[in-house]
Parts: sequence; C-alpha cells; structure tokens
Amino acid sequence: MTTSREIRLKSRPVGQPKAENFELASVELGAPGPGEVQVRNTWMTVDPYMRGRMNDVKSYVPPFQLGEALQGGALGVVTASNDPSLKVGDLVSSNNGWREAFNAPASTVQKADPHGLPPEALLGVAGMPGLTAYAGLLKIAALKDGDVVFVSGGAGAVGSLVCQIAKLKGHKVIATAGGADKVKFLKEELGVDVAIDYKASKNLTADLLAAAPEGIDVYFDNVGGEHLEAALNAAKPFARFAICGMISMYNASAPVPGPANLALIIGKQLRVEGFIVSSSWDMMPAFLKDLSEWHAAGKLTWKQTVREGIENAPQAFMGLFTGENFGKMLVKLS
Ligand code: NDP
Repeated sequence: MTTSREIRLKSRPVGQPKAENFELASVELGAPGPGEVQVRNTWMTVDPYMRGRMNDVKSYVPPFQLGEALQGGALGVVTASNDPSLKVGDLVSSNNGWREAFNAPASTVQKADPHGLPPEALLGVAGMPGLTAYAGLLKIAALKDGDVVFVSGGAGAVGSLVCQIAKLKGHKVIATAGGADKVKFLKEELGVDVAIDYKASKNLTADLLAAAPEGIDVYFDNVGGEHLEAALNAAKPFARFAICGMISMYNASAPVPGPANLALIIGKQLRVEGFIVSSSWDMMPAFLKDLSEWHAAGKLTWKQTVREGIENAPQAFMGLFTGENFGKMLVKLS
C-alpha cells in the first residue's frame, strides 16, 4: 500500500478563500489495476481559474465537489505500471494535482516532454499559461506590426510571457503589476517600455495615457475592473481586446459594477473578445517550436514561486489573490 495525502474542498469559499475551506486527508492506494498506472506527483500547479470551480455554479468546467480532492495540472513519475504504454520512471502529466500519488487508467495521463526546459515549466511557461499568452496575443488580439500593447497582470505566469512575446516582436509594451519589486522585474528583466504599479496609481487612465499618449492598439486583460475601464479610455479606434481573465472579480461575493465606459466599444469600433485556452490547443506545436527557439537563443526568461509540500498547496493558491507570486505559482511535491 502507498499512502497519499491530498487536499479536499471542505467548504465553498465566500469572498477570499481561507485555510478553513480546505482539508488535508490521507488515502491508501493499492496496486494499480489492469490498464492502470500508479504515479507519484512531483509538481502541481495552482491557477486562478480554480477559484471559479470552488463555486457551485455551471461554467465551462464543472464545480469541485465538497469532501473530494481538488483537481488540476500535475507532473509526476510512474511508480508502477499495469499498461504497456507506460513504464516505471516515465514522466507524465495529468489533471490529478492536489494529491501526492494516484492510480489512474494509463489513457488518462500523458507522457511528458519538457523540450529541454526544467520539467515544471510544463505547468507554466511551456504549458497552459504559456499557450494562453501566445494564443491570446497572436490569435485573439491578432497582434500586428506597430501595435502598442497594454498588458495587465504583467508579472504573472500569463502576463509575463505576453510582455516578452510582444517585446520579441518589436512592440511598445505597457504593463501593470502590484508593487515596486514587480515593476522593477517588468522593466529590468522583461524589458517592457513602461511599467505601472497599479496599487500606487491614483488614476490608472491618466497613467496609461501618460505611458501611451498615442493610445493603445491591443489590450491583454488578466484583471478586469478598473484596468479594463482604463484600457477602454486609452484605446485607439479599432483596438483589439483579448479578454483572458478578470482576477479582480473572482472573489467578489456580490455582483461587481461593470466599467462605466462600455459605450466606447461602439464609438471606437473596438473588438473585445473573450477566450479560453482550450479552444487553442491546436496552436501548441507552433507555440512550443517558437518557445524552444526563443529559449535556445537566450531570449526568454521566466520566474516561478515555489511552495513545498502538499500541506502548503492551499496557501499557494490563496497567494494568487494577494500577489504573492512572481511568475508561475507552483507546489513542489517530492
Ligand atoms: P498570475 O500568475 O498572474 O497570478 C495572479 C496575479 O494576479 C497575482 O500575482 C496578482 O499580481 C494579480 N492579482 C490578484 N488579485 C488582483 C486584483 N484584485 N487586481 C489586480 N491584480 C490582481 O495568474 P495566471 O497568469 O495564471 O492568470 C492570469 C489571468 O489569466 C487570470 O485572470 C486567469 O484567470 C487568466 N487565465 C485565463 C485563461 C483562459 O483560458 N482564458 C487561462 C489561464 C489563465 P499583482 O501582484 O500584480 O497584483
């Protein structure tokens, strides 16, 4: 028998998630059954979208169930195999995060290839968040020569790659993040043209217009709310908005008033398009090819914030909403 500890949803958060919404439990795993493998997770990811799954509402992913282990991306190593497609020692990715080990049909885990990057990059810059940045900027916002790009949440997993791709393609980039350290990171490590500390800003529209007096052509939205309102104010006619996330609203316990200036979408003839990364999986090969080339040429940087141990996974998750992470927030499990 193998003991695996896991994090379960104990109660549904109201507002900001709290430690009491989660519980640590242990399960005993027997040998994997026919066609199954046993996997010991080495890394798991915590992502803002998981907050939505903690609410009992219908969405594009089903809600987490009370009393059950949470789910999410994970990387692990096969420790026992009852299926010819996988052998002991194989590195695999799965959606069985939030636990130390599991048995599952071999068909539900995927052999993982880190493409010369550290394996945990598959949960960040070379995985779902990376593809979100790539598809959102190149397909949804349809980045084109000369565009001035505004990115909110610029120091996070998705935002930091958006900033870099736009800079690699020669654009003027303006990005926001919370706090002086993150602003320094945006300027000195990611090379953005103007970094705005939104927490210190008294008037985001004024700061954005000072950074881009000519206006913005593209807005990559990770935050919503006041950021979206400022982007609408600063948009040039025919600007394109890729609406990726609205993290400023995920913990709201009552409806949040929308931007007061939505009518600008009409007058400025803006294209405002929401998207979900899973509709762009077909871009993964092109994304990984570009990413590998940028990495090999030394043109790519990424940060990760790592918490250790399954017992610290809830803390890591909660930290996403207080900005504790630089780049990708990850949990190292073994
Ligand atoms: P991040 O790595 O960016 O982590 C979240 C960051 O959000 C924090 O570090 C914090 O940075 C910022 N933040 C938290 N609360 C607020 C707030 N109230 N106002 C402004 N900023 C806040 O997460 P990801 O890169 O994984 O995700 C970024 C966004 O992209 C999220 O909205 C997420 O839901 C979305 N997303 C959407 C996908 C899609 O398919 N559409 C796929 C993946 C992500 P700071 O310190 O700067 O405040």
